[in-house]
Amino acid sequence: LLAIALILYLYKRLIYNRLAESAINDSLTGTFNRGYFTEYLAYEFERSKRKKTTFSLMMLDIDHFKKVNDTYGHRRGDYALKTLVQIVKKSTRKIDVLARVGGEEFMLLLPDTSLKDAAILASRVRRNCESFLFEEIGTMTISLGITELTDGDNIDSILKRVDSALFKAKENGRNRC
Ligand code: GH3
Ligand code: MG
Ligand code: MG
Repeated sequence: LLAIALILYLYKRLIYNRLAESAINDSLTGTFNRGYFTEYLAYEFERSKRKKTTFSLMMLDIDHFKKVNDTYGHRRGDYALKTLVQIVKKSTRKIDVLARVGGEEFMLLLPDTSLKDAAILASRVRRNCESFLFEEIGTMTISLGITELTDGDNIDSILKRVDSALFKAKENGRNRC
């Protein structure tokens, strides 16, 4: 009976851990998911206000990704998404929060980081992606929007600003911050 109870207990813990993980992670890329990002942004917003510190937000989107899927198939596209996450992670710190918020859109929340430093990081990520050779696909580029917390901000205004920054990067020719 004791052995059965132990097995049941361990099994329950395993299931619980799996569930807890899938609730906050994106299953394809292993980054955080949109739900977790939304909560974390709200937390970071309050924390930064209280501690009178700052944070920056970066939004990145793969250029012409539909073409990658159409040309090489969805599986290659999935591989590209997973690989891009590894490239981004190599350039970031442990406390930075990377989340997949759409099909080929990611948010990177950078605590205690000014716009100037975020821009340096964004350029590095952009270059690292540009120079990587993706199997079969070859090269792929990304566009990035960056913004920093500003007086009078609320969460919506930050999200709108980072989105329009990304839009500008796309409009101005892609593969840029
Ligand atoms: P742009 O440079 O303007 O961003 O062009 P785009 O083609 O990247 O943008 P668009 O929004 O038109 O297409 C996004 C594509 O992302 C559509 C779909 O083929 C692909 N996509 C979305 N989610 C996934 C996914 O989970 N796996 C794969 N393989 N592809 C995905
Ligand atoms: Mg895209
Ligand atoms: Mg997109």
